[in-house]
Amino acid sequence: MFVKKSFSGGVEVPHFKNTENIQTEKIGVPDEVIIPMQQHSGAPCKPTVKEGEPVKVGQVIGISESFISAPIHSSVSGTVADISSMIFPDGRYVATVVIKADGKQDIHEDVKPPICTNKEEFIEAVKNSGLVGLGGAGFPAHVKLNPPKDKNIDTLIINAAECEPFITSDYREIMENSADIMDGIDAVTKFIGVSNVIIGIEDNKPEAISLLKKLAAGKKGIDVKALRTRYPQGAEKMLIYALTGRKVPPGKLPMDVGVIVMNITSVGFVGRYLKDGMPLIKKRVTVDGSAVNRPSNVEALIGTKLSDVFDFCGGFKTEPFKIIMGGPMMGIAQYTLDAPVMKYTNALLAFDKTFGNVPPETACIRCGRCYRACPVNLMPLHINRAALVEDMDALHKYHTMDCIECGCCAYSCPARIPLVQSIRLGKTLIKKAQAKAKKDESQKDVKS
Ligand code: SF4
Ligand code: SF4
Repeated sequence: MFVKKSFSGGVEVPHFKNTENIQTEKIGVPDEVIIPMQQHSGAPCKPTVKEGEPVKVGQVIGISESFISAPIHSSVSGTVADISSMIFPDGRYVATVVIKADGKQDIHEDVKPPICTNKEEFIEAVKNSGLVGLGGAGFPAHVKLNPPKDKNIDTLIINAAECEPFITSDYREIMENSADIMDGIDAVTKFIGVSNVIIGIEDNKPEAISLLKKLAAGKKGIDVKALRTRYPQGAEKMLIYALTGRKVPPGKLPMDVGVIVMNITSVGFVGRYLKDGMPLIKKRVTVDGSAVNRPSNVEALIGTKLSDVFDFCGGFKTEPFKIIMGGPMMGIAQYTLDAPVMKYTNALLAFDKTFGNVPPETACIRCGRCYRACPVNLMPLHINRAALVEDMDALHKYHTMDCIECGCCAYSCPARIPLVQSIRLGKTLIKKAQAKAKKDESQKDVKS
């Protein structure tokens, strides 16, 4: 079935799906892995291992008491060489566990298929697996799969849109691991109690659509829907609207309209995990861009340095000018090749100067293209101005927190104004003000 309904705004982007027909290759075990204690939305984990301690594959090395968090596991066997911290590209310091690999890849005794006979055991198993949204969002899966009881969930949407240019890691999951995807869908529907499943996929992936349709044909309640190829079709709110006609109101979540959205690689992981019990220790990553010698899809152990990944792909054919983790629209520019592959890394792109250089910013010409491109009907120019002068009233008035950071406004701007950066700054200002207000309130309570 082809879905004509679509969201307003958005942009046509070139696809550059150069690696879609390239089979995933496994990168070997690196000499050492750097494993950050935050690879998810929510609270960071604290290391549970000490320097000098031996570790095995699949062993828990970081946990958090917080509900919104996900445990972190070792991807290699070896010895903990260092517990330190690294600076993320957004300026945060994050604790890391550095492990010298012994190359043996001994598996920890806790790694075994989980026993799931009911919803509670299934949710616990998903939590223990360390699964977070593998489409790039990194939201802990056990939280998403366990909405409050008053939310009446009737639809599971599997997000196979993969709308960002270059990235083909979800596409390869479909072509290489379709049986795991179907097993994962079976498990989620059985334990969460959802009978209506829709797989949403952009219509620029005909082979994957026909494969999924063939597999879904023998199953009850699974519909595969081809969507118009338009960025950001894979954003949750846009996807839900295109597939169900339901609008997620500002400030609300998919569960508020009865929907859970899971990325297709995440659901494939669930299918595998229930069979082998191996937690999330590796990730398929698309490696591409004008500076890369051999564009590829690779399976890298979590914590593998970016330099090791690019070396595996033949290194650089020209000096890289910009390195991005994720897609060119929403990805994050990296400042060092010593950064590691993380759970949510779906692409590593390296561009030379011709491709990656953005001409200097000029003055706004008030063309309104940024408004028209915004899929959530915001006014990016006004948010930009409010953030730069720290006008808190205006930041609230223009609904800054509703921005999904898709980048459509900046992509459309002829003046090349870095709108997303300033919108992120605006969000940080709001969060800081909220945290301060909360702290002031609790101090008032203590005094009274
Ligand atoms: S304001 Fe936010 S949601 Fe709107 S186009 Fe820009 S980045 Fe996307
Ligand atoms: S697209 Fe750029 S130039 Fe046009 S109104 Fe928006 S900020 Fe100004």
